[in-house]
Amino acid sequence: MVGLTARIRRVGRMAEAAPTRPADSPIRSAARGSVQLRHVDAGSCNGCEIEISGCFSPVYDAERYGVRLVASPRHADGLLVTGVVTRNMASALRDTFDAVAAPKTVIAVGDCACDEGMFAGAYGAVGAVSAVVPVDVEVRGCPPSPSEIIVGLRSVSGR
Ligand code: SF4
Repeated sequence: MVGLTARIRRVGRMAEAAPTRPADSPIRSAARGSVQLRHVDAGSCNGCEIEISGCFSPVYDAERYGVRLVASPRHADGLLVTGVVTRNMASALRDTFDAVAAPKTVIAVGDCACDEGMFAGAYGAVGAVSAVVPVDVEVRGCPPSPSEIIVGLRSVSGR
C-alpha cells in the first residue's frame, strides 16, 4: 500500500491539462454549471461513441467541466446525440427528447448527426438530428476527437 501511494505521488495526475475556459457562449442553458445529458445513438457506427467514452475517461475527465451522462431522460437537462437518424430510431429519439423536461439542450456529435455525413441519401436514414429534434450545438468530425467534443460540452455547461 505504501509502495502504491509512493507510485501515485511520483506519477501525478494523468488527465489532459484543462484548456482555457471557453468565451461566453451564445448557448443559454438553464442548467449552466451542472449539465446532465442522456446519450442517444440514433444510428451511429459507434466511432463517435468511442470518442465520447474517451471524454468521460480519467484522461479527458469531462465531468470536471460540470457535464455528466445519466441513464434516464427524466434526469437529464438535454441530449447528446450521435449518428444519422435511422428510420428505426426516429420515433425513439423524438420520445426521448419529449421525456426531457424543458428547457432542454441538444448536442449533435459527429458529421452524421450534423448533416448525415457519409450516410446522406441512404435508404434507411431519415436525416440529420435537426430533421427530428431541434439542435443547439453541433460538433463536427468523423469522428470528432474527445477535445473537440469537450469544447461543445463546455459551451453548454459554461465551465
Ligand atoms: S461521424 Fe463518423 S464516426 Fe461518427 S457515427 Fe458517423 S461515420 Fe461513425
